Amino acid sequence: MSITVPEDISFDQDGKYISCLKIPHSTNTSGWGSLLMPLVVIRNGKGKTVLFIGGNHGDEYEGPIALRKLANELNPQDIQGQVIIVPYLNFPAVLEGKRLSPVDDLNMNRSFPGDANGSMTLKIADFVYQELVMRSDVVVDLHSGGSSMIFEPCAVIHHLDDLQQMKETVSAARSFGAPVSLVLRELDSQGMLDTVVEESGKIFVSTELGGGGFVSPRTLCIAENGIRNILSHFEILPMNDETAPGTRFMETPDSGGYLMAPCEGLYEPLIELGENVKKGQLIGRIHSLTEIDSPTVEIHSQIEGMLVTRAGRAPVRHWDTIAVIATDFDVSVYE
Ligand SMILES: [Zn+2]
Repeated sequence: MSITVPEDISFDQDGKYISCLKIPHSTNTSGWGSLLMPLVVIRNGKGKTVLFIGGNHGDEYEGPIALRKLANELNPQDIQGQVIIVPYLNFPAVLEGKRLSPVDDLNMNRSFPGDANGSMTLKIADFVYQELVMRSDVVVDLHSGGSSMIFEPCAVIHHLDDLQQMKETVSAARSFGAPVSLVLRELDSQGMLDTVVEESGKIFVSTELGGGGFVSPRTLCIAENGIRNILSHFEILPMNDETAPGTRFMETPDSGGYLMAPCEGLYEPLIELGENVKKGQLIGRIHSLTEIDSPTVEIHSQIEGMLVTRAGRAPVRHWDTIAVIATDFDVSVYE
C-alpha cells in the first residue's frame, strides 16, 4: 500500500495545514499500526514553492529543530507562495537517532526516486518525490555530519551541466549565508534526493551544518537564518534588511580531497575545522588499539586547502572518511 496525500492537506488552497502522513507499520505490539510522519504546508497566493527537508538521516539535528520551529512560526499572511516542510524525512530513523532506518536498514539518501510498493524507506522516498518534489521549484535538504562526521558549516551544491540551472543554484547557495558553500563531487550519487531533484531541472541546495550527533547554538543559528534567507531570495518572505554574511565558495578537487583511514584505531585530529592546511601537512594520527608499541600512523594532507570535514568519532575503521580538504572555487563564471 502506497502513502497518500492526507485528506486534511491542500496544496492548492491558501492556508496553513499541519498534518501527518500515515505510514503503515505492522509490529508485534501494533498489528494494524501506522507511523504518523509530520508534514506541513503553508500557502498564500502565487509565488514559488520551496520544499524544506530535515531528518534525511536520523542522527542530524539542525534541520529537524530549525524546521519544527519554522513550521510553528510561519503563517500564510507572512508569505507569498508556498512552503512545504518535512522536518523528519526518515521518520523511524529520527525517532531512534540513527542514520539509517531501523525498519528496513535503508539509507534514505540512496533510496530515491523510491518505490510505492517497496519497503518503508522506499515508500517515503516515492511519496516525497512524486507528491512534494514535483510540486516544488526549489528543494532545500538540511543535513549535518551525523554521528560519524563533523563539518565546517556549509551549503552544498553540485557541478551541474546546465549553465542556467548552475547559476541559479550558485545564487541560492550564496543567499543561504553559511560560512562555506561547497561545490561537491559525490563519492556515490546514485539514489540521492540531490540527484533526482537536479535531474528534474529544479534548484537544489543541501547543507552540512555540523555533526557528531549533537547540535550547537552556532550551527542551529546558521540553519535558521539560512532557511529564512532562502525564502527571501525566492521572494516568499520579504527581503531581509540584513545582508547575509559572505560565504566562501569551495570545492572538493578531483583527487586528494578525501582522506580515508588506512587502518583502524583511534583518530587523533591535529587541526580544527576551517583551518587552512598545506600539502603534506600532518593533520592527524591513528593509534592502534591492539598493538601498544606499534608506531602511530600519520595522516598527511595531499593537497593545499581547508579542512571542511573530519571524523566525528575517535574510533575509526579501515577506509572511514577521516578528513576532507576543500580548495577555493571561482564562481565568477556563474554570476
Ligand atoms: Zn545526512
